[in-house]
Amino acid sequence: MDRPQGIGRLPRPRSVKAAAGACSLCGDSYATGDLIGRTPFAQAVPYEQMGWLCWHCLVERRQQPRRRDVLLRVFHALFAGLEGVGLNAHECAVTL
Ligand SMILES: [Zn+2]
Repeated sequence: MDRPQGIGRLPRPRSVKAAAGACSLCGDSYATGDLIGRTPFAQAVPYEQMGWLCWHCLVERRQQPRRRDVLLRVFHALFAGLEGVGLNAHECAVTL
């Protein structure tokens, strides 16, 4: 599967498989055989590792963001104590 280019590019997934279930980030369900994956994870960070993500959250959410994706980014940045969210142009357009 192709990954987006340019400003919407996310890190390469750590692992990908076909499965059925629900996304750990957005909560959408994915059908049997849909590709899901996990993000790269640094063992030294004292956070719980992110679960399995749907293809949209894993690969496309910075390039083709939904309003829900932007809201999740703001929510996570707020609770991580970050001073800025760092939205890209696609996310700014959705916010407008
Ligand atoms: Zn998702």
